[in-house]
Amino acid sequence: MEATSRLSPHLHFGEISPAAIWHAVRDAGGSVDTFLGEVGWRDYAQNVILQFPDYGGRNARAPFDHMAWRSGPDADRDFRAWCQGRTGYPIVDAGMRELWASGWMHNRVRMIAASFLIKHLLIDWRRGEQWFWDTLVDADYGSNAVNWQWSAGTGVDSNMFVRIMAPLTQSPKFDAGDYIRRWVPELAGVSDPLIHDPPVRPGGYPSPIIAHAAARQRALEAHAGLKAI
Ligand SMILES: Cc1cc2nc3c(=O)[nH]c(=O)nc-3n(C[C@H](O)[C@H](O)[C@H](O)COP(=O)(O)OP(=O)(O)OC[C@H]3O[C@@H](n4cnc5c(N)ncnc54)[C@H](O)[C@@H]3O)c2cc1C
Repeated sequence: MEATSRLSPHLHFGEISPAAIWHAVRDAGGSVDTFLGEVGWRDYAQNVILQFPDYGGRNARAPFDHMAWRSGPDADRDFRAWCQGRTGYPIVDAGMRELWASGWMHNRVRMIAASFLIKHLLIDWRRGEQWFWDTLVDADYGSNAVNWQWSAGTGVDSNMFVRIMAPLTQSPKFDAGDYIRRWVPELAGVSDPLIHDPPVRPGGYPSPIIAHAAARQRALEAHAGLKAI
């Protein structure tokens, strides 16, 4: 379910203030704490970039300056597949195609797509941050940079352990079947639960560009190399 307010572009462009939202929602009563917490995250992100104006371009945790991100033609090819929604991971591809078509992606899918680029493809988070910056209707320097650095584990607020999201687990967990069928028309005829990882790929829909287990292993090794520095 969408089930969110879609206020972010209006907040970004100053059409409504977080204070106005806060008071209107609080006065309306009901269970609003989670929603108000989200609005608080936005202020937190604004605060981070006030203190670190170059947050969108620099790892907050310096050891990540030595991270062995992939680069070169193979990485460029994989980056293009991610941008175009052709990674072979339906939940990632649905999100990236929705982003391109509409400028929008639900927060959960943003997290899954960002994690996939950084951990599965081992591509520098700044390339993803730039793509979101170019394509999101709510593109916001603070919220974008803070969420990308959080996903990459490079931020001031990041966990020390390596968190690798499993897209094939996230997809059924959040019941993404209808969402995938909408944004990946090649899979429109595939039913649940096969839709999350179709054994047969109809209509030219690609096979996974990397297997989850191999990607996970590669990401863990790259992070272990970082600790050794
Ligand atoms: C990789 C990545 C990149 C992102 N880039 C942006 C961006 O460029 N611009 C942007 O506004 N948000 C960004 N977000 C945060 C979040 O996805 C959006 O704010 C949210 O999806 C907007 O939908 P909504 O207004 O319906 O949110 P609701 O759930 O209704 O939340 C209400 C408001 O709270 C704020 N909010 C909610 N979640 C977050 C969060 N994680 N961080 C900061 N503020 C939040 C937003 O202002 C939002 O409008 C990003 C998240 C990720 C994981």
